[in-house]
Order: sequence, then structure tokens, then C-alpha cells
Amino acid sequence: MSDGDVIESDRAHVWHPYTQHGSARVPLAIKRAKGAFLFDQDDRAIFDGISSWWVTLHGHAQPEIARAIAEQAGILEQVIFTDFTHEPAAALARELSAVLPGDLSRCFFSDDGSTAVEVALKIAMQYWSNVGEKRPLIAALENAYHGDTFGAMSVSGRGLFTAPFQDQLFEVVRLPDPSAGDVLAVLDKLIADRGHELAAVIVEPLLLGAGGMHVYGEQFLRDMRERARRSGTLFIADEVLTGFGRTGPLFACERAEIEPDIICLSKGLTGGFLPLGLTAVREEVFERFVSDDRSRMFFHGHSYTANPIACAAARASLRLLNKECKARRDAIEAVHRERLKHLSTHPKVRNTRVLGTLGAFDLADSSGYLDKIGRALAEYALRNNILLRPLGGTVYLLPPFCTLPEELLNAYEVIARFLDIS
Ligand code: PLP
Repeated sequence: MSDGDVIESDRAHVWHPYTQHGSARVPLAIKRAKGAFLFDQDDRAIFDGISSWWVTLHGHAQPEIARAIAEQAGILEQVIFTDFTHEPAAALARELSAVLPGDLSRCFFSDDGSTAVEVALKIAMQYWSNVGEKRPLIAALENAYHGDTFGAMSVSGRGLFTAPFQDQLFEVVRLPDPSAGDVLAVLDKLIADRGHELAAVIVEPLLLGAGGMHVYGEQFLRDMRERARRSGTLFIADEVLTGFGRTGPLFACERAEIEPDIICLSKGLTGGFLPLGLTAVREEVFERFVSDDRSRMFFHGHSYTANPIACAAARASLRLLNKECKARRDAIEAVHRERLKHLSTHPKVRNTRVLGTLGAFDLADSSGYLDKIGRALAEYALRNNILLRPLGGTVYLLPPFCTLPEELLNAYEVIARFLDIS
């Protein structure tokens, strides 16, 4: 296809996510990608400052993962996953169980981050049904983002993204954003008043991502987890964004030294090559579904559950999360710290924050997600060969782990230039 044909076909037939087609610019056609860079039709190299929506973990077209995918595609590309199994899934589940925090030893596969969350919520609800207790309540954080399917939207913070669907979302008990409010006092009151009705508490550990890259303290996470344990409710950690080294250690829960009952994984799970969701639970949770009675089995499954090619990619990605990779992540964090310290004195910059490979700040006087300033920065950055996608007035960099310090420094330089001229 010629360059023109790609764009013409796209404009005639494609509906893009989170895109206002009435005003969006013509999409940029990307021909190939390598490491931290995307290449357009003219072979212009664009630094992927957001890991293509936080999925690309080690780098684009990482050779070991690409090879694992090609090999697996020639051996077993897909098979039904009820009554059947295969090595890529069984081995991946074993290998993940060994590195997940605590005894999250049982893995349920799905398709993406949203379905990993749906599965977690459904497991929690059916767990209590199987136990024989009526626990209709789920508690979730203000400003949370857990995905775009209905259950995931229900537990996400309510606002612009969820407004058109409001009447169809189930009610949850809302806890304050720990980066801004006294979450523990509200949780304590909830547990005292209605703890026996609480099925689960769901959180994004340490980082509320799409809700504005809000970072909160490890002690809050520890205290929330401890309260859930004491009240006997299930604690769900949504590590779709934070998993696989993004916050420093392999998992944000590990950073805070907590062990959830249920963890949701996706995005970086396959190194960012293929969609795959995974919900891992403690053995004690799984056991509540094991019985001679078929009506107690977990009622959930997707056509592509545990797709062998995606599982092979995930195993290859996991092998790459070694010491050398940790050193690269530390180097990225060091650049964030140094550059954001510098930027924090800029009059247009507020609330600089760093968590592992994430560096973020807020633009002063921004009016929220639809504020044009974020789009203006994204356009400016793209003209300077950097892919950014600010969340309204929240600017962040979350690059792939292969990123070199000088590549990240250059991205900060472009941002600083924009601040000076805007
Ligand atoms: N949970 C978290 C914490 C996320 O950040 C996201 C996506 O950004 C999701 C769930 C949903 O994942 P997906 O877009 O793969 O459905």
C-alpha cells in the first residue's frame, strides 16, 4: 500500500480509540519500530515516550520476543483452553507464580487489562457466593482507572470517560484518592459499618495511572491491605500498568512489601507484543471454586484464553527481566529525578513526581483532561520527533526499558522548550 492509500483507507473505514474524528489530525502511519523508536513512512525516527500506551516493555521489535512468537506460531497457534492445555500456558503460569508477590499461585488467562479486571471482580463476587455469604459491595478508589468494559468502568473513578454509561454501571463504595485524601479513615468507617458486606477492595497500587498519574505512598498501600485482611475482605491489586518493573521492582506490591489476594496483569505481560490478560489468585481463593458441584466452577472464559503465541511472548519477556534490565530501569529513574528536579522550579510546572520508570508533572492552570494545552504539547513534541500523550494537563514520560539516558534527556529538553514558548 502506498502512504496515501494507508491514510485514505484509514480515514474511510477505521474508528480510532479515544479519538474525536471531527477534529483529530490525520493519523500518522507507522511503518516499523525498533527499540525506543517508531518510524513513519519517510523513515523519520520518533521516540516513543509513552511505550505506546504503556505496553512496550523492553523495546519495539525486541528480537528474542519476536523469535519466540515466530517459533510458537509454527508449532501451535491456538487451541481451546477448557479440557485442553499446552506448554506455553502451563510453563508461563509456573514461572509467573514463582515471581509474583506472596502465594499468587493460580493463573486465569484473559485478553487484556480490562478483562483481567473483569475476571478479578467476578472471581471476588463468585468467591463469596460459593462461600455462602452475601457480600454485594466493592470498594474502589477515586480517580482510579481499571479499563473500559462495564465492570472495569464501574470500579473506575466516575467522570468524563464514564458519564455516558453512568446509568448502567454498578454502584461501588468510593474511597478517597490516597494521593489527596484520608483513604484510611474512610476505609475504617466502611469496614466498621458494612465490613461484613464488603466483597473486595480494588486498587491500582502506588500509581493511579489514567486518572492523572497520581503517585501515593507505600504505607497507604500497606495500611489498606492490612485493613482488608483484618476485615476478611479480598484485596485486588490492578498491576496492569505497574507490573513488570515499571515502578522499579517487578511489581508495585513488591515495592510496598504487600501480598494481595488477587492481582491483574496485562500490558507489559507479553513485552507489549500481543494482547494477553492474566488474573492470579491465592490458592485459598481458588479452592473455594473446587468441588464436585459443577455450579461452583468459575463461570468465565474467552475464545482466545491463554493463546499459545501470546504466552510464548510473555515467557520470552519474563526471561528478559533480569539484573541488566533492572540497571537500565534505574538509569531511566535517575534521569527522571534529575530532570524533574530541574523542571520543578519552572513557573508552569507543578507536582513533579517519579516512580521507577515514570516521570510526571502537572501543567499550572490546566483545566483538566480536555484542556487544549496537553494536545498542543503533544503536537509540538511530535514535530520534534517525540511521542507524548499528556492526560490533559498531566505530562508524563514512561519509555521502554531499552531507552538510553541521552534519548530521555532529549525528550525532557523538548518539553522544556515547549514550556518556555507556550
Ligand atoms: N487497569 C489499569 C491500571 C490500566 O492502566 C489499564 C489501561 O490503561 C487497564 C486496566 C485496562 O487495560 P486495557 O486497555 O488493556 O483494557
